[in-house]
Amino acid sequence: MDRFICVACGTQYPDSREPPASCPICLDPRQYVPPGGQRWTTMTALREDHANAVRDEGGLVGIGTEPKFAIGQRALLVPYGASNLLWDCVTLLDDDTAAAVEARGGLGAIAISHPHYYSAMAEWAERFGCPIHLHAADAEWVMRPSPAVEHWDGETLDLGHGITLIRGGGHFRGGTMLHRAEGDGALLTGDIIQVIPDRAHVGFMWSYPNLVPLPDAAVRAIAAAVEPFTFEALYGAWWSTVIPAGAKAIVRRSATRYSEALREVLG
Ligand SMILES: [Zn+2]
Ligand SMILES: [Zn+2]
Repeated sequence: MDRFICVACGTQYPDSREPPASCPICLDPRQYVPPGGQRWTTMTALREDHANAVRDEGGLVGIGTEPKFAIGQRALLVPYGASNLLWDCVTLLDDDTAAAVEARGGLGAIAISHPHYYSAMAEWAERFGCPIHLHAADAEWVMRPSPAVEHWDGETLDLGHGITLIRGGGHFRGGTMLHRAEGDGALLTGDIIQVIPDRAHVGFMWSYPNLVPLPDAAVRAIAAAVEPFTFEALYGAWWSTVIPAGAKAIVRRSATRYSEALREVLG
């Protein structure tokens, strides 16, 4: 028996003798099955030729797998009382990574923006004995069920210690962002608001790899969801996707630009 992991998206599946027939996360039109077809690995195999980098990322601690695996996101450790909250997740969990996290205070909770980063969340939660906070609207996308998963409903969830989860929707119905009140405030967005090469703007899409846009109303809903919160910094889903200051105005301006693009005001 093994827990097979989809090579294209990094999602871990429950114990089975044979790899799953398909990966629903990749079959969904927001992702894709690579031209070469579906391939599978395991945590044991992944540990042999991959490792996690753990390093400063805009004042937080980033955790990302090298060489790049699956979608290639990096997770973030957010101070959470005497411990940390793991924002988003990566598939690889090995002893070195666990020791690096323990040395920084361990994990008190995991929260994930959307199903593309559910990855091996059950394995992480087991290792650290902590809950995983996921929006209930995306419950159908949990591929390896875990008693650690706590689904929340509604528009915001106050986790204490100045941390609030905000449902933005868009890319996924339960698409979640994390607001950190500490200091000037920060918004951690996963793929719900996308940090793009032009750091004076951000992006919004239904499917990033397949370039399918969102309706204007969905983008306005994302902007409205974060409007009540104060934040200077914004952290995207990959290494170095950090906007250090002015992020709230950038989100507002970008949502307006998106509406204008759909209305053919631009160009
Ligand atoms: Zn997949
Ligand atoms: Zn995504």
